[in-house]
Amino acid sequence: MELLEQLTQTAAISGREHRIRQLIQSEIKGLFDEVRTDPMGSLICLRHPRPRKSDSRPRKQDKGKTKNSAGANRPLRVMVAAHMDQIGFLVRHIDDKGFIRVNAVGGFDTRNLFARLCTVCPDLRDPSGDLLGVMNPGGKPVHIASDEDRKKIPDVSDLLIDLGLPPGEVKKQVKVGHMVVLAGPMQRVGHTVVSQCLDNRIACWVAIRAIQQLEKKKIAHACEIAVVFTVQEEVGLRGAQTSAYALAPDVGIAVDTTLCVDTPGVPDDQRVTLQGEGASLDMMDASAIADLDLVEEFEDVARKNKIKCQRTVMPRGGTDQGTIQRAGQGAKTLTLACPTRYIHTITEMIHLDDLHACRDLLAAYLAQASA
Ligand SMILES: [Zn+2]
Repeated sequence: MELLEQLTQTAAISGREHRIRQLIQSEIKGLFDEVRTDPMGSLICLRHPRPRKSDSRPRKQDKGKTKNSAGANRPLRVMVAAHMDQIGFLVRHIDDKGFIRVNAVGGFDTRNLFARLCTVCPDLRDPSGDLLGVMNPGGKPVHIASDEDRKKIPDVSDLLIDLGLPPGEVKKQVKVGHMVVLAGPMQRVGHTVVSQCLDNRIACWVAIRAIQQLEKKKIAHACEIAVVFTVQEEVGLRGAQTSAYALAPDVGIAVDTTLCVDTPGVPDDQRVTLQGEGASLDMMDASAIADLDLVEEFEDVARKNKIKCQRTVMPRGGTDQGTIQRAGQGAKTLTLACPTRYIHTITEMIHLDDLHACRDLLAAYLAQASA
């Protein structure tokens, strides 16, 4: 869990993924044959096929027969996308009293943005100059607020950050465009883990751990694996689009979080997933409809390896699957997601069994995927 904690405590919003990319790069040493960063900042990591010892030399009769689904004469190329950006804010304005106003980057629910600690990050890469602040909507405290005031839900534009510093010092250190994230620890709560930005640092964890599993156990795989830690998913699946275009994968697996609203106050048919019931295979969301053959292949792998999974339908939202599916000549895609309660808050909650199911299912699928 130490890696997951590091991943959740590293500030990196859409378009400002420098710190998380650095951390991931240091974690993946020795797992891939080629690693590169594309112009938008996505980290593209290629692992060539690892043939079984017995068939390390291609047999004569197989020559020319290993066409992949796109008809090309190469191994099946599977792109695994784990977006590494988190939702956050950019500094929009600093007033003469030293209060900071922000613009949201990604979808926040402002109903839970009262009285939060936050971190303002003046340096893209170095966290040593980060400034702790308090984020609150402007206005009167409860003692003197009118009934009308108390009912108001603030807009992001109403939020103020107070750094507890004189205006001159704030203006010296903070500039328009600097990144701001909410501050909150990762904690173990019962059989779950709770933190901000489990969306989508759990996917970075799942992808790294799945490839480590293949590497450590020396598990053969016939497919070429391209793990891409994508940028700017939270603002419209942007990084996955360019990396999928560059890679032209046959299969695209977006690893992400999904809604788990199996909590009181929500009708059963709208819960999307059930906590503890395993990895979610999203049949459709607003960005894509999953390839049914691929879903069934995953279910088959899950059954054979005794890994729990559940089918889900997301009425709204999207994942990197949406742009991978339609890049270049297209790809067969699905979203492998981890059920997440209280999503897009700083108390996102994930059951450890579900997290492990996602890791194991991804590794088991990659071990058997072939053209
Ligand atoms: Zn996400």
